[in-house]
Amino acid sequence: MERMLSAIKPTGQLTLGNYIGALRNFVRYQDDYELYVFIANLHCITVYQKPEELKKNLKDAVALYLAAGLDPKKCTLFLQTDVRAHAELGYIMACNTYLGELNRMTQFKDKQQKGETGLSAGLYTYPCLMAADILLYDANYVPVGEDQKQHVELTRDLAERFNNRYGETFVVPSPLTPKVGKRIMSLNDPSKKMSKSENNDKGCIYLLDDLNVVQKKVMSAVTDSYGELNLDKEKQPGLYNLFEIYAALSDTSKEELLKKHQGQGYGEFKKTVSECVVSELSKIQERYKEIIASNQIEDILNEGALKAQRIAERKLEKVERKIGINIHKRR
Ligand code: ATP
Ligand code: MG
Repeated sequence: MERMLSAIKPTGQLTLGNYIGALRNFVRYQDDYELYVFIANLHCITVYQKPEELKKNLKDAVALYLAAGLDPKKCTLFLQTDVRAHAELGYIMACNTYLGELNRMTQFKDKQQKGETGLSAGLYTYPCLMAADILLYDANYVPVGEDQKQHVELTRDLAERFNNRYGETFVVPSPLTPKVGKRIMSLNDPSKKMSKSENNDKGCIYLLDDLNVVQKKVMSAVTDSYGELNLDKEKQPGLYNLFEIYAALSDTSKEELLKKHQGQGYGEFKKTVSECVVSELSKIQERYKEIIASNQIEDILNEGALKAQRIAERKLEKVERKIGINIHKRR
């Protein structure tokens, strides 16, 4: 079985974008791949998080993974910090990354260009840690939304560089982006990605939002003044985004949905989309509540950590020997 690895940062409450672009795809892959999924609690502190909120977000993220359908019997679910090898290989990867490569990473560049101040060194070097996350497990595939593709490309470059310098060590991974829903946009500004850390409550549907609020958010999504349902990403980006959400959740193509709803007004169409989102989220929220009440998270994380550690530590030792920093067999 080929291996697959993915993660989500607990920087806030998970969104519909995370669900459509990442989570629900993990669930589909768990039958066909040896799947490793972790909560990226090191990546999330590249931006300051209030400790108490972070703890809650961490627990919620695990519960939502499970609620979305990840089955700990089929995949390995763990916290990044439970496997110390991530941070160590992250440092080694940083030593094999050029500054020019990090300067080209659009996520950091965008923040810098927006004039954001107080950017941390961790945020700048985070693609090195992300490379380590992936390479530790010899993952063949990394399912990501479009925004993360560039980081997986860098990981490929770093793996190839390392293999050339030190001999075959890492599997070179490929990104896997979903055909539909790889970039869900904000509901009140369809030029921006829906992101959990944007603090844009109106534009963002959180998986744990009250269902009445979800409905209101969809109904008040920004559209346009054409007044006709079309699939025109440039001219009608808000509407296109609603089609994208609807298509992903109903497993139907946007074209088919357009045919079905052609002629309807925006209000009627939004009502259908909101019902579809509410129905999906209500199932997730119900399972979420059961999981939180059942206290199973502790055991699942401990088991996941043990499985992940075995693989990651073996790989890290191999790396240490290859680069010459390890001269004895650890007992
Ligand atoms: P942050 O604002 O902290 O970066 P985020 O919402 O972008 O949060 P990440 O933790 O960076 O979430 O990403 C987790 C996964 O969700 C990644 O695979 C990413 O590509 C995917 N993802 C994030 N936002 C979207 C979106 N709007 N549409 C589709 N996929 C998304
Ligand atoms: Mg992101």
